[in-house]
Amino acid sequence: MSNFEDRYKTILSKFREKNYKLTPQRLAIIKILSKSEDHPSVEDIYNQIQRYFPGVSQATVYRNIMLIKSLGEVLELGFADGSNRYDGRKPYPHPHIVCIKCKKVLDPDLASLKDMTKEIAEESGFEVITYRLDFFGICPKCRAKMK
Ligand SMILES: [Zn+2]
Ligand SMILES: [Zn+2]
Repeated sequence: MSNFEDRYKTILSKFREKNYKLTPQRLAIIKILSKSEDHPSVEDIYNQIQRYFPGVSQATVYRNIMLIKSLGEVLELGFADGSNRYDGRKPYPHPHIVCIKCKKVLDPDLASLKDMTKEIAEESGFEVITYRLDFFGICPKCRAKMK
């Protein structure tokens, strides 16, 4: 099973468990979130939905994302300027690298993450439950444009 199908089915089963209605609009939002690798914003998802359901408002899209978030099935990446992004493929904490120019967001593989978590736990005496780890920089495309 691909990651997309896997995620799509998992989110649907959570909706069914709660007896939440699965309207066509809702299914479309779930589909986009399960599929998108680029950490879309509410606006990005809204724009994609418009192609199929021109009547859906951005507020409805937002409410549905919040509902999926309440089920623990989408990770919200909050930014100070309010331009939040969403990861429906990996709803659990993971590191991100953000381009400050074009706002591209990637999921880097970080081999040292486990060691880092262990080190923080040992040093602070905390039991680490979750984390947020965002790196900021300028992506190769934007760097090429600057030359
Ligand atoms: Zn960039
Ligand atoms: Zn991510």
